[in-house]
Amino acid sequence: MAGVSKVRVVGRLRPTVNLAPQLRVLGDGKTIDIDFSKSGDGSRPPKTVDHQKKQFSFVLDDVLDMSASQEQVYSTCAADLVDAALEGINGTIFAYGMTGAGKTYTMSGSPSLSFGRRGLIPRVIQNIFQKIASNPSTITTIRVSFLEIYNEKLYDLIRPESKGLTIHESGDPSSSDSGSATSVKNLSMPLCQTEHDALDCLFQGETNRVIAAHRLNKNSTRSHCIFTIHISQRQSVGDRGDVIVSKLNLVDLAGSERVSKTGSEGVILKEANYINKSLSFLEQVVVALSDAKRTHIPYRQSKLTHFLQDSLGGNSKTTMVANISCIAPHLHETLSTLRFAERVMTISNVVKVNVTHDPVLYIKRLEKQIEELKMELDL
Ligand code: ADP
Ligand code: MG
Repeated sequence: MAGVSKVRVVGRLRPTVNLAPQLRVLGDGKTIDIDFSKSGDGSRPPKTVDHQKKQFSFVLDDVLDMSASQEQVYSTCAADLVDAALEGINGTIFAYGMTGAGKTYTMSGSPSLSFGRRGLIPRVIQNIFQKIASNPSTITTIRVSFLEIYNEKLYDLIRPESKGLTIHESGDPSSSDSGSATSVKNLSMPLCQTEHDALDCLFQGETNRVIAAHRLNKNSTRSHCIFTIHISQRQSVGDRGDVIVSKLNLVDLAGSERVSKTGSEGVILKEANYINKSLSFLEQVVVALSDAKRTHIPYRQSKLTHFLQDSLGGNSKTTMVANISCIAPHLHETLSTLRFAERVMTISNVVKVNVTHDPVLYIKRLEKQIEELKMELDL
């Protein structure tokens, strides 16, 4: 059974340190107002059709203000997707915003942070394992993967030595393992029996990311990181080999600010091109999806959009966290994040429970039953 699921957008305001916030959230908890005439540094609004316009207002599905705890972020952005994933429905949460706006803090927290400040990924892991433990009639297998996309190349963060990573498309989404249109060939997917196993993979991946960034001179604000939890479930008794599969993508995108090409050379220029392209292609996909008349969606223009094909307009419940900096020097970037967020809110996905059949499992079950019957008959 398929159902329509609108992409949800939750704004999260990053606390300001020494400067006063230059935007306000209205009492409905959904509307953000930006007033350029009040920005103390004299920054002007961008040239819009209405040149006089100084005030901008954006309505999102939810806005979490500066005081929101990490636990609140989990319950607002992730709790429903975790429940859906355990029912066999794919999910994606992605954090979008300029560098420094709080994407990594939202998605991962930091290994060095105290327990209460852990981000969405460790909380999702903890909740999934808790829910599995409370449901012994279902045999659940959890695997995780951790992919980095940098300058249009794919890197396996759990096993950095993996080679030949490519994005694959299965002909029929319903027949693929994860019930999704895309998967990454050669990406390691270790089995995790406990919450600790999965957290180890997360921390190992984050460490590998830092090591590789130093070694290859990569700028980590320019890469996209995708931690995926792959879930496979079957009944412990009496089923016919049906397996319910789903995956949850937790995405920390590169900073959304445009990288200036002027004055950059060599590697930096190449990087500026890639990063600008990758996020422009994401925007192009979002624009195409928000235009009901468009039939061709240009997913294949970049690795990121190809990978996220399911998450935007496909078989996935999706939430975007728009990470917002509230200080005057960043108002232009904030405006562009919020414009993007409003477009994303127009996207609808069609989700379904992914059921596959495992004939080997079914035959094993039948063989076991025959053995039991033989024993009963004393043959
Ligand atoms: P991004 O990943 O978007 O570049 P970060 O998540 O690294 O940004 O955040 C930049 C800095 O701000 C980090 O030091 C982070 O710990 C801090 N920070 C971000 N959001 C919050 C928050 N909600 N509460 C406290 N500190 C935050
Ligand atoms: Mg970051």
